[in-house]
Amino acid sequence: MEFGLAPSIYHTFQSKTPIHEMNFIRTHEVFSNQRAMDYFHRIHKNVILDLPIYSGGLGVLAGDALKSAADLNLSLAGIGIMWNKGYFKQSFWFKYGQIPDELSWDPFSYPGLILTNKKFKMRIGKDEMSLRIWKYYVFSQDLKSVIPLVLIDSNCAENAEYQRKITNMLYQSDNIWWKLVQRSILGIGGIKAIDALGYKINLYHLNEGHAALAFLERPQGHFAYTCHTPVAAGHDRFSISDLSNVLNQKEIEILKKYGTDKDHKDIVNFTQLALNTTAHVNAVAKKHQEITRLQFPAYKDRIDNVTNGIHTHTWVSKPFSELFDKYQEKIGNWRENPKNLAKTIELKDDPDFRRDIWLAHQENKKQLVETLKFWNIRERVFTISWARRIAPYKRPSLILQNPNMLINIAREVGPIQIILAGKAHPADSHGFANVNEMLNKIASLEGDKDLIKIIFLENYDTYFAKFLTSSVDAWLNNPLPPFEASGTSGMKAILNGVLQISTLDGWIVEAADKGIGYIFGYVPKEGEIGSEQNLKLKEDSEALYSTLRSTITTYYQTVNHGKNCYSSKWIDMMINCVAASGYFNTHRMIEEYHQKIWENL
Ligand SMILES: *Cc1c(COP(=O)(O)O)cnc(C)c1O
Repeated sequence: MEFGLAPSIYHTFQSKTPIHEMNFIRTHEVFSNQRAMDYFHRIHKNVILDLPIYSGGLGVLAGDALKSAADLNLSLAGIGIMWNKGYFKQSFWFKYGQIPDELSWDPFSYPGLILTNKKFKMRIGKDEMSLRIWKYYVFSQDLKSVIPLVLIDSNCAENAEYQRKITNMLYQSDNIWWKLVQRSILGIGGIKAIDALGYKINLYHLNEGHAALAFLERPQGHFAYTCHTPVAAGHDRFSISDLSNVLNQKEIEILKKYGTDKDHKDIVNFTQLALNTTAHVNAVAKKHQEITRLQFPAYKDRIDNVTNGIHTHTWVSKPFSELFDKYQEKIGNWRENPKNLAKTIELKDDPDFRRDIWLAHQENKKQLVETLKFWNIRERVFTISWARRIAPYKRPSLILQNPNMLINIAREVGPIQIILAGKAHPADSHGFANVNEMLNKIASLEGDKDLIKIIFLENYDTYFAKFLTSSVDAWLNNPLPPFEASGTSGMKAILNGVLQISTLDGWIVEAADKGIGYIFGYVPKEGEIGSEQNLKLKEDSEALYSTLRSTITTYYQTVNHGKNCYSSKWIDMMINCVAASGYFNTHRMIEEYHQKIWENL
């Protein structure tokens, strides 16, 4: 459904034709507890808009997977949709919250995006429509191999006005018909697009249930399926009557046979459908595998696991890639094989490496200081970030639950800088309320700006994700366990020596014994899923504050007295982080997909 390829930060190609001004968002507002500064200053950046066909981690993971597949020279194509209006652009309005603006961009001048001369037709309900096909080539690191990403677009001149808008906005969910048609275009249209291009495909991999209707178009095909979420809203369910407005009777009969929801016989559940029509199923972290087995006990033995990763070359900052090059003799060729980063653990007792990893981090932090200079962000002050999609289970406002506690910690242990960023889905009223609450809490700390600086950046995207995951000291991850299937932003952070402060959920469960930071908060009992509604904000924020107190103490032991202490525990943990990133990358992940699934079906 979505692909986050991040050309703003990796393989940023030039174009011979001028790039339309719409393909840049050059200024970003800031909401902070220094309101006067927000009024006078903006963040300026001169980078191309990310290819706006993703909303968050699911898409970025798909993009990273394609990049590693290209690096490993695998024969594979991605299928997605050309979202003509992207996801949305976020603006803040004080005392109101987030305003979702329509995003306009120009695919024709977007570097690397090509409109092919191939089209195909599809029937949706009573009407037939045309779909055109775009391609975007995803290059390997060394530029020697490519993976085509095929993007389907309903914006054809010969289509009716309403049809031209169907592929406008990703996750437009205010209308069920619309949502279903988008899934039909991805699933059924995806197969038709492959045929129109003449590709010969042996295996179709459904990345999430969104594309499950592909089975209708190719019932004899070989399918594999990756389930990405334990959150109820992540599982698509449609009533038979809604389906009848889009699909024909024969198709409905197939869906009834394979996809009937276990609790409602008039509903088709796409997760159920994918489980029944695919030969291989996997979850995206060990903990997620355990939860998926609890949610779908009938399929227990078939639910395998491949833990997620990130594309090392996309997310490594320049000072860290230079550091890894400098110590290549010990680490090995990390560019060809990022798994070699595990060997940095052997450098733990090397005083030069301990100094150099700290200096590489400070190099990154200087960028943060420079970008936020009007807000007086300082290099030697403890800085923590929470930045991701604003969804209730991720508990975006946890650190702001009790601002007085934050002030006390800052007074007793040392000053604190907090950077926040994230978009809430435009139709998510809880997410909207979260943004509103966060802005109000930030404004309430205006009188304490010498002890604590809080900054909320507008319009989080992969550019800011790389910027923040490499430049802050600690990365905050506080989903309510067990609702984070994996999470990936923390993997970007550890690659750049940024410590984790996290609840025990998703990928963190597999890294908890590696000394990459501090774990806190609620842990569900073995065999228990619990409720997404009971967010445990009070208990877990108290646990977070107490963890912060000890974390910040350790941090200031490293930087205090104007002199750095390279023997500190903090630097031990930074090295543990980098070593752990030898496992949590998409090279390892794609090799597992290849060996466990693609080669065997
Ligand atoms: C990596 C990334 C994410 C994923 O964050 P999680 O930790 O999985 O919540 C979301 N959005 C962007 C822009 C990213 O780059």
